[in-house]
Amino acid sequence: MTTEPLPDYATKSFWLETAGPYEESPPLEESIQADVTVVGGGFTGLSTAYHVKKAGPGLRVVLIEDRVIGYGASGRNAGFAMTLFGLTLGLTRSFFGEEGARQAHHYMERAVDYVGELVREHDLKCDYERPGFLRAATTPGYAKRIQEEIEVAHRLGIEGISWLTKEELAQEVRSPLYLGAWWEPRCALVNPARLAREMKRVCLEHGVEIYERTPAREIRRGTAITVSTPKGSIRTERLVLATNAWSHLIPAIKPKQVPAWTYIVLTEPLTPDHFAEIGWQNRQGIEDARNLVHYYRLTADNRLLMGGGDIGIAYGKNMDRDSHERIWRDLAGHIVQIFPSLKGVRITHRWGGPVSVPVDMAPAIGTLGDERVVWSLGCMGHGVSLTHLNGLTISQLLRGEQTELTEVFFVNRRTIPWPPEPLRWVASVAIRGYMRAEDRIYERNMPAPEGTLPYQPSDPPAHVN
Ligand SMILES: Cc1cc2nc3c(=O)[nH]c(=O)nc-3n(C[C@H](O)[C@H](O)[C@H](O)COP(=O)(O)OP(=O)(O)OC[C@H]3O[C@@H](n4cnc5c(N)ncnc54)[C@H](O)[C@@H]3O)c2cc1C
Repeated sequence: MTTEPLPDYATKSFWLETAGPYEESPPLEESIQADVTVVGGGFTGLSTAYHVKKAGPGLRVVLIEDRVIGYGASGRNAGFAMTLFGLTLGLTRSFFGEEGARQAHHYMERAVDYVGELVREHDLKCDYERPGFLRAATTPGYAKRIQEEIEVAHRLGIEGISWLTKEELAQEVRSPLYLGAWWEPRCALVNPARLAREMKRVCLEHGVEIYERTPAREIRRGTAITVSTPKGSIRTERLVLATNAWSHLIPAIKPKQVPAWTYIVLTEPLTPDHFAEIGWQNRQGIEDARNLVHYYRLTADNRLLMGGGDIGIAYGKNMDRDSHERIWRDLAGHIVQIFPSLKGVRITHRWGGPVSVPVDMAPAIGTLGDERVVWSLGCMGHGVSLTHLNGLTISQLLRGEQTELTEVFFVNRRTIPWPPEPLRWVASVAIRGYMRAEDRIYERNMPAPEGTLPYQPSDPPAHVN
């Protein structure tokens, strides 16, 4: 019997619970000086710190993380390294024009490939696979929506995306709801907590100093920048805010984004009999075409991960929304709706985490007027690939270089501020309400799920006790 409580991070996702023994870096307990300081130990912070140090081995590069590496979205996500930039390609084109949408997609293509390059170059042990991506149509309305998106892509000259007919899709994955799918080979899957911890290893090997359990409490900008932490401080020449969904807690970038929570359920490992029914031998990452999208995939040990379907919203500074019974129950029901033959399979893990949402639902990188401070946020639910390439882009920005990456339109783009509370909350709830209502219209003739799956948590592995 476990008597010790689990470490805070271990309860935050299956990935963080099972990634193996973890040695935390010590907190900062003195006053130090740095050339570059990165706040936030997710993919953005880790990739930035690595690229800054790689390009300038003589620089003192410090990364501080409030909890532990991968505690945020980076250790909890579904692990799709995909090309999606904003909410949809069509919406990106509406907000940023044809050239913007084309540029964004090409950046994302490069980002997906870049994750693979990093994995190979540093032998990152993160269960990397590249099975491709299906956006499956589950109603005739969604089939039309997907086909229109594919047309948008083709009109923009984007290649590598095609429509699979119902019959072609059934050769891959079998569901009574499937009517066809968007097929895109450029999508990889990772174990995100392992990827974050492996990027920590690479950072340490390159000489980045990492302090965990070290929140930035106050940032003061004068001739130098000073970051205060509970037991120390850093006087730094340059600063990167890689705080993602927590960014509204930092006064200087407060209105640029709001956090929204997305949730996941995970089954016990599926058996060969299950796969005989549903196919899925090629293990693609799958989404549907809802506004409040479902995303699902297989883990290395053949569990089915199902996420999305609805989002959680919090008021003001509250970041305590990682659990949501109703959404978890709906997600378990959705597994049976898509794959009726999985009825009775156990749900063993459930979790949630915050993503960062700007008003126009698209990522942004910028400086705080003062070019010494760079921020990056708004990766929505699509940051796994993006954040890794963003780290390279930010390192070039910090060096004052002008490159193809730093010239991309979403670097230093204008962001639309969220209003202060209570209007922020009202606006978020209204947007979510609109998205839900439209999804219901698209699904009005969809058969309801027949039951749900039981939740029976398994004991955590011994190493987390
Ligand atoms: C459930 C879920 C599923 C997702 N699925 C996918 C997916 O399949 N594919 C995809 O591409 N994207 C997905 N995403 C989104 C993706 O995970 C994020 O876009 C990405 O991880 C963002 O990385 P980051 O480093 O910018 O932020 P985070 O990983 O959130 O890191 C920010 C870090 O900053 C730390 N921090 C905050 N404030 C401070 C402070 N004051 N001082 C010090 N540290 C601080 C936090 O503790 C946190 O560790 C998903 C997200 C969630 C939550």
